[in-house]
Amino acid sequence: MEMAVAKKVGFVSLGCPKALVDSERILTQIRAEGYEVAVNYEDAEVVVVNTCGFITPAIEESLSAIGEALERTGKVIVTGCLGERPETIQARHPNVLSVTGAGDIAGVMNALHEVIPPDANPFTQLLPTGIKLTPKHYAYVKIAEGCNHTCSFCIIPKLRGLQVSRDAGEILYESYRLVSSGTKELLIISQDSSAYGVDIRHQTSEYQGQAVVAHLVDLCQKLGELGVWVRLHYVYPYPHIENIVKLMAQGKILPYLDVPLQHASPNILRAMRRPGAGKQLETIMRWREICPDIVLRSTFIVGFPGETEQDFQMLLDFLVSARLDRVGCFTYSEVEGADANTLANPVPEEIKLERQARLMAVQQQISLEKNEAKIGKILECIVDEYNDDEDDLAGTKLIGRSQGDAPGIDGSVMIAAGELVGQIKIGDLIQVRIEDADEYDLYGEAVSIVDWQPNVIRMPTMTV
Ligand code: SF4
Repeated sequence: MEMAVAKKVGFVSLGCPKALVDSERILTQIRAEGYEVAVNYEDAEVVVVNTCGFITPAIEESLSAIGEALERTGKVIVTGCLGERPETIQARHPNVLSVTGAGDIAGVMNALHEVIPPDANPFTQLLPTGIKLTPKHYAYVKIAEGCNHTCSFCIIPKLRGLQVSRDAGEILYESYRLVSSGTKELLIISQDSSAYGVDIRHQTSEYQGQAVVAHLVDLCQKLGELGVWVRLHYVYPYPHIENIVKLMAQGKILPYLDVPLQHASPNILRAMRRPGAGKQLETIMRWREICPDIVLRSTFIVGFPGETEQDFQMLLDFLVSARLDRVGCFTYSEVEGADANTLANPVPEEIKLERQARLMAVQQQISLEKNEAKIGKILECIVDEYNDDEDDLAGTKLIGRSQGDAPGIDGSVMIAAGELVGQIKIGDLIQVRIEDADEYDLYGEAVSIVDWQPNVIRMPTMTV
């Protein structure tokens, strides 16, 4: 009998965690249909590029990734956010095989079938598990697609459409499956997680014989019952978030909120058309009253059109009062098709950069003080990787994260394994005594391994 050689498909995944989840879904389907995923261009017969179209540098990165894949393999299927604008792609790369928009798995598969017809062998079509692009111990869970807001600097709603929430039952079953196959941290994402369920009128769905409501508070309550770290991203400061913070105070979900505030000056927030803006400081103080340990992360844009020195000073004053734990700061850049492009009084590039530097200097001091306050404490950390420098013995140093650090965007905890050397595995939860700190990272020594048992029936591990 002749053995069929699996045909290999290359995959380039660009963009944010939301795009990463789409990539995982597409890759899962590719494998489920019996294709193999190539690890380099040489082995790939065709390459799928999942693009990002958020800001101009991301569009450029996507276009050059498509160019490179075309040069190396000659056959490229484009999907993702930038795929919503096929004319931009085709103008630069007329030879791409097909262009589809974000989340269009069927469109990608149809294009792939044209290049490499699918294998008729039914056994290759029964792969039971999904592909994750994150390490096994954490996973992104997307609760909704699209966005109902109209922030003037953003074209996501034009690219991805209005918000479409998933049923709570579907999200909970997916989370359950992830936890039962070893995931210890669920990262909840969408464009505006606080608005989850609004579009489907918070309808109920079935989960383990119960009716569950499509509302963020109900969802977090249920996710908290899985017994793993649950971390919320992209939450806006609406009143009902107080109830989420109460769940944090009760230890049901991580005391961590990623709240993209973008600015603090009312004038700029209005020009940005930001949702949930206003009384930001009061809201933060209230959250801290309810949950004193809450770690707050936010991002800001400086140099938005019309931003005066006075507006910027308001932002600095806000940061000094709010004492956020982690802050990202971008200089404003135009996105093709965004309403803000027509706003008057653009800020010169050098002033944008100067403001960004000033903001980061103020914040670095706050972040340093906040991190230094953790010295001497014992924090629960999750181990992400070994940090084996050449002159170290394997396993003596580890890199992990505390409950206040999201993967990829926040700091790390550099951990000496100490007496536990050789006993700690990637993905373990451990107690770490913090001994030192800088503005980004913490340094400490492992004290003990946490005996962790999730509230699910564990499945045997499967690899793809
Ligand atoms: S909330 Fe604003 S910035 Fe975020 S995706 Fe929606 S429109 Fe864009």
